[in-house]
Amino acid sequence: MDTLLRTHNQLQLLYPLQHHEFRIRPKKRNGQNSQHWSTNTGLTVLKASISSSTASGSAVLELPVPEAKLEENLEFELPMYDTSKTGVTFDLVVVGCGPAGLAVAQQVSEAGLSVCSIDPFPKLVWPNNYGVWVDEFEAMDLLDCLDTTWSGAVVYIDDNSEKSLDRPYGRVNRKQLKSKMMGKCVSNGVKFHQAKVIKVIHEETKSLLICNDGVTVQATVVLDATGFSRSLVQYDKPYNPGYQVAYGILAEVEEHPFDVDKMLFMDWRDTHLNSNQQLKEKNSKIPTFLYAMPFSANRIFLEETSLVARPGLMIDDIKERMVLRLKHLGIKVLTIEEDERCVIPMGGPLPVLPQRVVGIGGTAGMVHPSTGYMVARTLAAAPIVAKAIIKFLESEQGFSGNDLSAGVWKDLWPIERRRQREFFCFGMDVLLKLDLPGTRRFFSAFFDLEPRYWHGFLSSRLFLPELISFGLSLFSHASNVSRVEIMAKGTGPLVNMINNLIQDGDKD
Ligand SMILES: Cc1cc2nc3c(=O)[nH]c(=O)nc-3n(C[C@H](O)[C@H](O)[C@H](O)COP(=O)(O)OP(=O)(O)OC[C@H]3O[C@@H](n4cnc5c(N)ncnc54)[C@H](O)[C@@H]3O)c2cc1C
Repeated sequence: MDTLLRTHNQLQLLYPLQHHEFRIRPKKRNGQNSQHWSTNTGLTVLKASISSSTASGSAVLELPVPEAKLEENLEFELPMYDTSKTGVTFDLVVVGCGPAGLAVAQQVSEAGLSVCSIDPFPKLVWPNNYGVWVDEFEAMDLLDCLDTTWSGAVVYIDDNSEKSLDRPYGRVNRKQLKSKMMGKCVSNGVKFHQAKVIKVIHEETKSLLICNDGVTVQATVVLDATGFSRSLVQYDKPYNPGYQVAYGILAEVEEHPFDVDKMLFMDWRDTHLNSNQQLKEKNSKIPTFLYAMPFSANRIFLEETSLVARPGLMIDDIKERMVLRLKHLGIKVLTIEEDERCVIPMGGPLPVLPQRVVGIGGTAGMVHPSTGYMVARTLAAAPIVAKAIIKFLESEQGFSGNDLSAGVWKDLWPIERRRQREFFCFGMDVLLKLDLPGTRRFFSAFFDLEPRYWHGFLSSRLFLPELISFGLSLFSHASNVSRVEIMAKGTGPLVNMINNLIQDGDKD
């Protein structure tokens, strides 16, 4: 529980508006129907239903977001856990109805085992706007859960250099994906309990999950799928992640300059900051890029993103850069359909391996430490965790308690995955040291690599031997300046990685 409170406090101190529970929206006031609204940035907002501008430079991004979108619930009648049946012990209790938790609940219940899912908002449509490479979803037969796809993507390195990525990209239809998983859970007999788990007590063969409504749910196996709040799994090393921080809006705009057939993966151009030298210098040290999904000529998702920084950038800093960028690109925001404040802890230590509570997703260190992506990797790992749980629960040797959990952790984080993650953390440590020119040189070389390398790196498909070839290939594609830089800034992280690999190898 300490871990939960610690992480929450850290995140709330840094980014008080991040979680949907804590979001504060500009309130509509009476008499608010101004059609044109000029901000002190010089940007004109049309159709803004706010009566006055604020002094903030990012006022343009503070148009009201419709409440209906914020709190959209799935229309499911959920079979609820009968709290009067106090003697029931579920084979598996999953804490958290995010993509990670539901995927495992669905698959374990499919094998006929009894499952209960606990979440304070089990029916809520997931709030995050997920993007994935189409091939990742195709491999899992989930193409029906993408609502938009683009035939490829674009990266702007600077004003003079652009990379065209020949790899289709898609936006996850989160309502469809959650409905699909939830529907299967319901038909497999999963029970739901609407509450927050505040404590877990372990006995030899079962665990008791204490909820904030006073109810106790009993389980043979407990799966923590609580995302970055890391509610139940324990960590024994200082938690020192980098942070990806981003601010995104799904907006109706007058027009935008992007090709609607391509998504904008990264735009590292910084000419929009020429009018503000202070911001330009800040951006040169800790750069942000624009990520965009153009849905039509006047509907687009725009997200200003800090790839990774330690400590993470403040959301207001990011918004300020975004306002100037949109103005420079001639993008006039008419209305905002949704917005997202994104804070993703990246890298840092893995949880204690093994431990009694099993984990998956954000809570189990599965986010890609160099990119912040995780949905596809987690959905692909769910069958591994589910199979391990089923195998140990059904085993004639009668595995239970710590032995059972140890087996599941071993299948989730085998040595080759731990080595892969160590390499990705090394990648993150190098990225943390690069300024804007260094970052541009890095991505220029990265996207010149053979597709199998950059696809494999981004989708966690390369393991250590291939990652070493990847590293060498990246080095050979890099400019001379970049090679010197990689050697100067990468040597410390490289030594660190080798030490960690040796220590981890000794444990196995
Ligand atoms: C804004 C944002 C955008 C992202 N975009 C992408 C993207 O485009 N592509 C990508 O691959 N990854 C993306 N990620 C990273 C990652 O994929 C997501 O964070 C993903 O939602 C993690 O899934 P999860 O199931 O582990 O956790 P979550 O989705 O966070 O779900 C956790 C669930 O646990 C519940 N919960 C928490 N504590 C408790 C408790 N004590 N008791 C009971 N229930 C609890 C919560 O209510 C929630 O429903 C994004 C992350 C963020 C924050």
